[in-house]
Amino acid sequence: MGLNKKSVDDINVNGKKVLVRCDFNVPLKEGKITDENRLVAALPTIKKLVADGGKIILCSHLGKPKGEPKPELSLAPVAVRLTELLGQEVKFVPSPVVVDDSVKAAVDAMKDGEIVLLENTRYRAEETKNGEAFSKDLASLADVFVNDAFGTAHRAHCSNVGVTQFIDTCAVGYLMQKEIDFLGNAVETPVRPFVAILGGAKVADKLNVISNLLEKCDTLIIGGGMAYTFQKAKGLEVGTSLVDDTKIDYCKEMMEKAEKLGKKLLLPIDTTIAKEFPNPIDGEIEVSSVDADAIPADMMGLDIGPKTAELFADAVKSAKTVVWNGPMGVFENPILAKGTIAVAKALAETDATTIIGGGDSAAAVNQLGFGDKMSHISTGGGASLEFLEGKELPGVAAANDK
Ligand code: AMP
Repeated sequence: MGLNKKSVDDINVNGKKVLVRCDFNVPLKEGKITDENRLVAALPTIKKLVADGGKIILCSHLGKPKGEPKPELSLAPVAVRLTELLGQEVKFVPSPVVVDDSVKAAVDAMKDGEIVLLENTRYRAEETKNGEAFSKDLASLADVFVNDAFGTAHRAHCSNVGVTQFIDTCAVGYLMQKEIDFLGNAVETPVRPFVAILGGAKVADKLNVISNLLEKCDTLIIGGGMAYTFQKAKGLEVGTSLVDDTKIDYCKEMMEKAEKLGKKLLLPIDTTIAKEFPNPIDGEIEVSSVDADAIPADMMGLDIGPKTAELFADAVKSAKTVVWNGPMGVFENPILAKGTIAVAKALAETDATTIIGGGDSAAAVNQLGFGDKMSHISTGGGASLEFLEGKELPGVAAANDK
């Protein structure tokens, strides 16, 4: 994989118009931003480009307007909040078609160091189809393109891939660079021992991740709901636990692959069980822990047990690189979060490089208060999974090599 990409540190945009694809896909409630992490994460790249003396044209998608203007998915609130966070005006230049003559005129009138924000790129139906007309419209605004939106890097859209066909200089921003450094390079050329930890609900969601990480890592740890399909593949009784019967053979194959490659594959040795899935998910629940080979037929495994938590934590202790994706149990319930907390704690306490895949694991680590103890928490769910699959991400590939 060519991951040596031109970054904003390799270019100087003084006097130039720079189109910056950000990930401003923030949650909104009644027009108010309820989590501004993604805005804060975009600031270093924006500030660098302003300091260079560029004319900064920001763009992003927000939610799924499905190709037409939806006022409730306008980026207007983002412009307001970015202005506050930067201490500098971010002028919103809205258009129902994102780029039109009035937007072009506003961009032409920009002075060096000024910032504008375009309207939601998904107001245009071509955006998600990587259509040429919208790609050209976007490109017509700028001399240089910077992609800092990791969350959409696994998709080929106009605003992150199509546009690069019509602009010569295409670099990645700091956020994107960090994701490439950690998720890409750390997985491709890890400092060993390299321990990968996978959890979450379903094996089927992570088939390629399991297979790829098995090749790259020294130890693969599997917990969470997906572990029970492996347990069943080993011939164990798993009761009413989450199992995908269509993936039993796949699990057997992966266990054979581990053996052939001489890799350690760690599965739970005990499990925390209950009669039923908690309802509501964070409601009261009566649990007990049993060895992995002693799950009663009418009980369901909902977390790794205490012995497993210790086993997994021990494996982490001797690692130099740890990648983690997916919770060890139904962490939304405090009674069933113990395994996930134990693993998060082990990662927080090690000197190893610790990388948390996006989505649920990122949420779990932050929610449990271990966020600042990790080397890197990915900002992309789907994109980080595809990186772990060893796939080339179109949004990364489209940037110039160094
Ligand atoms: P994923 O989106 O694949 O990372 O899965 C995350 C979800 O898996 C969380 O909502 C957890 O509640 C759920 N999960 C983890 N362990 C189990 C389990 N043993 N049984 C059912 N669901 C689980």
